[in-house]
Amino acid sequence: MTFNELGLRAEVLKALEDLGFETPTPIQEESIPQLLSENRDLVGLAQTGTGKTAAFGLPLIESIDFDKKFVQGVIIAPTRELGIQIAEDFKKYTKYIKGANIATIYGGASIEIQAREVKRGAQIIVATPGRLNDMIRRNMVKLNQVSIAILDEADEMLNMGFKEDIDTILSQTPDDKNVWLFSATMPKEVARIASTYMTNPIEVTVGTKNAANTDIHHVYYTINDRNRYFALKRMLDFHPEIYGLVFCRTKRLTQEVADKLMKDGYSAAPLHGDLSQSQRDHAMKKFRDKTVQILVATDVAARGIDVNEISHVIHYNLPEEVENYNHRSGRTGRAGNKGESISFASAKEIGRIKSIERVIKLEIEHATIPSGKEVCEKQLFALVNNVKNVEVKEEEIENFLPSIFEQLEEFSKEEVIKKFVSAEFNHFLEYYDGSRDLNSKLSDRDKEKGERQAKKRDLTDESKQRFHITLGTDAGLNKGAILRIVCEAANISSNEVGRIDLFREFSFFDVDKKYADQVLNGMKDQEFNNEAFKIQFAKSGGGSGGGGSRGSSGGGRSRGGNSGGGNSRRRDGGKSSFSGSRNSGGSGRSEGSSGGGSRDRDKRRRRS
Ligand code: AMP
Repeated sequence: MTFNELGLRAEVLKALEDLGFETPTPIQEESIPQLLSENRDLVGLAQTGTGKTAAFGLPLIESIDFDKKFVQGVIIAPTRELGIQIAEDFKKYTKYIKGANIATIYGGASIEIQAREVKRGAQIIVATPGRLNDMIRRNMVKLNQVSIAILDEADEMLNMGFKEDIDTILSQTPDDKNVWLFSATMPKEVARIASTYMTNPIEVTVGTKNAANTDIHHVYYTINDRNRYFALKRMLDFHPEIYGLVFCRTKRLTQEVADKLMKDGYSAAPLHGDLSQSQRDHAMKKFRDKTVQILVATDVAARGIDVNEISHVIHYNLPEEVENYNHRSGRTGRAGNKGESISFASAKEIGRIKSIERVIKLEIEHATIPSGKEVCEKQLFALVNNVKNVEVKEEEIENFLPSIFEQLEEFSKEEVIKKFVSAEFNHFLEYYDGSRDLNSKLSDRDKEKGERQAKKRDLTDESKQRFHITLGTDAGLNKGAILRIVCEAANISSNEVGRIDLFREFSFFDVDKKYADQVLNGMKDQEFNNEAFKIQFAKSGGGSGGGGSRGSSGGGRSRGGNSGGGNSRRRDGGKSSFSGSRNSGGSGRSEGSSGGGSRDRDKRRRRS
């Protein structure tokens, strides 16, 4: 099937041709004809990378009368990054349509400018829930003539506590609109939304429900916690051409790991919510341009990443919510490429691996971290390969060649090769000389225990402290607002906030026990909407799994502070294929040492 056969307008076909879209992806093939032929609701189970933006975008565009200057279609997405991405895609699809106006709405940027975009006559709005609600309240946006409302990454929006915001937004749209909902997974809450807002929806599933993409190879390594960073380095060294994402549990850890990698000579940059928007944009740009090879990110910050060639996703820490594993891994293995999803798990975390296997309905292969010798072999061949393929800039080196030849005259070809390889490679051999086995051995008992934990995990989580606050929905509180207050007052990551339960006059929420005092103290003198409230530990600890609602209230917030930055060294370094992702710790240094990096190597070279 081709796009021409779908019955799209000529302007859109021309735009698709510019984009190089030739044939529809499976989800497009299934949903576009149905959505064009009848006014129906739709539930699409699909990950990012399947082409779902065009799957809902193209039929939406067909339904719009672009001569009219009011909002006819609204798309709600969980994060600023995803919203911007969708809006950019829409602008590309509509670039030849006269009078088409797409407005993008998200927190953390000027509301007036966004209101102006809407006022200009936007027919389509792409928005994050919090800001859109704000603008509705302030009469800056009217949704009373919307004919199609689209919820993208619905599971993620619910994870982030946007349920109430979504309800409010949809209540502003006409009853006879159609709702198209897309989600990577179908937890109960999403199914509930579907049943509340939809009548007899078309169901489109790409791949099996809750199943991970089969282009992704899932593998885990068992390690001791103290070796986690060395295991990461070793895997990076083992994959010299890696173009990957490394996920860490907290913003602080994300920064730490990125800092260490940069110090150790890797081409890495951090991406998390404590960086300013411009720092994040900068890190993203470098990653997209491939001047940075490894992006170390939190779950929330990585949401908007839309890069097709990511070769590896590394779970430095396993995700707190099992379902997030799919979101993370779905960043690789896209657009028909193969990808690898690598997890590190301590013996204590085997249960979590087993839980993930249940969700993705695939076995995660237990593999062995390569030995130092294997890493060296891999790097050596990467170097040889690079030498074979390197472009020789004749003109630029010709003046130097006679004296170089003269100096090397006494050596045979074999000797010259050996010397060049050694010059490039000795530091590596030295670093890995006598390197440790980083695998932590897993006994059958550990595995059995993991299975038991995986089963139990669904029921309790004792690592959490439950809090009670004297504020509830009567005071205008919703889950997003709780997350915001807790994270900002206690200066913790939204990942640390667990289940949230709202009642009219009070609420409960769970926080990782290690932050209990920090949260209690940080929230003591806070107000919400000018209303003071009390906070105390609730008696019962831990909420049940599954229904937990956590995440962040959007990528648009910034608490400033960290300068982040990143390593601007080029991936290919202009030197050898592994100059980006290698560690060249000094001779005699063990993997336990933190220093090293190519600067040390350069110093040694100058000395010798
Ligand atoms: P999405 O799942 O919407 O994020 O799309 C994933 C990627 O596939 C994006 O980079 C799209 O531009 C691209 N894409 C979507 N549909 C097609 C198509 N029919 N042919 C080629 N590329 C596509």
